[in-house]
Amino acid sequence: MQHFVIIGGGQCGARAAFALRDQGFDGSITLVGDERHLPYERPPLSKQHMLAPNGAEPPFIAGQQQYEERGIVVIAGDAATAIDRERRGVELASGRRIPYDRLLIATGAAPRRLPAAEGLDHVFYLRTHDDAAGLAARLAAGGHLAIIGAGFIGLELAAAARQRGLEVTVIEALPRILMRGVPEEIAAKVQALHQGNGVRIVCGAGIERLSGDSDGVVLALSTGEILKAGTLVVGIGAQPRAELAVKAGLTVENGIAVDASLQTSDPAIFAAGDCCSFPYEARRIRLEAWRNAQDQGAHAAAGMLGAVSPYEAVPWFWSDQYDCTLQIAGLADGAVTSVRREIEPGTFILFHLGEDGRLLAASAFGPGNRIAKDIRLAEMLIAKRAKPDAAALLQVSVNLKSLLPRA
Ligand SMILES: Cc1cc2nc3c(=O)[nH]c(=O)nc-3n(C[C@H](O)[C@H](O)[C@H](O)COP(=O)(O)OP(=O)(O)OC[C@H]3O[C@@H](n4cnc5c(N)ncnc54)[C@H](O)[C@@H]3O)c2cc1C
Repeated sequence: MQHFVIIGGGQCGARAAFALRDQGFDGSITLVGDERHLPYERPPLSKQHMLAPNGAEPPFIAGQQQYEERGIVVIAGDAATAIDRERRGVELASGRRIPYDRLLIATGAAPRRLPAAEGLDHVFYLRTHDDAAGLAARLAAGGHLAIIGAGFIGLELAAAARQRGLEVTVIEALPRILMRGVPEEIAAKVQALHQGNGVRIVCGAGIERLSGDSDGVVLALSTGEILKAGTLVVGIGAQPRAELAVKAGLTVENGIAVDASLQTSDPAIFAAGDCCSFPYEARRIRLEAWRNAQDQGAHAAAGMLGAVSPYEAVPWFWSDQYDCTLQIAGLADGAVTSVRREIEPGTFILFHLGEDGRLLAASAFGPGNRIAKDIRLAEMLIAKRAKPDAAALLQVSVNLKSLLPRA
């Protein structure tokens, strides 16, 4: 019998385990996770969970019974500490050793730490259900919440905290919010929505000094301002959890480097989800996105079973803030021009075109049911490498479906 092992009991690991069964694998599957919970979804942690007055249960991907029914052994609360590539085994913190024929590393990412905040009380990071439970309990006490970092998690948290009546200040070192990956026009809309809801956003401000006492933290900003807050959340991005791969001598390049089939530099080992970097259109990228973790989990499962096919899904990401949704399909970094289509007054979608006229990405922010369909169609255009007429893109009367290249 073959033994397949998955390290990382998150979105990608759980998806891969079920996908292995769906694709007919009848050997043993062991899913090892260092968190004490069964695998759960992370997106609600910074959204609905922050609004639940008494915290919430982890949003489990599947119940214990479903794992048992599919013959998936889940080891929770035990970390993989080493991969013995020569003898093909995974060593766990508990001292157990699990042999493997094929291994998937799906260890995700961890919040980037702020050295100045180390050792201070009242400082929170948000990655896990336990982080979220601690923070949600703290929000119940009200007061002033300071958030360092105007990325997705910081802003989602700001929205939730405002809805719970806290005073919220978001501090961003860069000149504007959502600088990484979100076009300026869209970021401006997001910022206006937050400000309309009473969030104070301070951009271009570094942290000169941080100190704390029993009441909270004091932030000295590079602008000269001194801020006091009862709670501080640090949301300055995440780093791939590649330490096991480094220790095992696998190639690591902004995450565990995999080829187009999600195979690492060792043919018996695959990596997928937030922890890996993979080839996408002549460059290597790493994504931190729910759907990528899902899709790569299934793709890696196929690879472990011997399929050799390139992972070519169009990147897609969403973020919910208040009653609006931000969605981005594709990657706009190679775009030379953007075309704006007004879906309705105040709601627009931006199409980002490359030098050769190819549609590379689309982004929008607005009520979810208004933008989702157009982003979905844009995603299909991107996948088909379409070069739609810019004039047609901007006219809302032109159905995007009609711009899909004929097969
Ligand atoms: C608060 C929050 C909100 C989010 N919201 C959105 C959103 O709105 N839209 C979106 O597209 N994406 C969102 N994401 C991103 C999305 O959740 C991630 O992309 C996804 O969870 C990645 O899945 P993964 O399985 O690769 O990693 P993870 O879900 O992080 O799972 C990895 C697991 O492996 C475990 N692990 C690590 N090392 C070891 C080890 N040595 N041994 C055993 N276990 C180990 C980790 O503890 C973790 O449980 C959000 C993420 C967070 C944190």
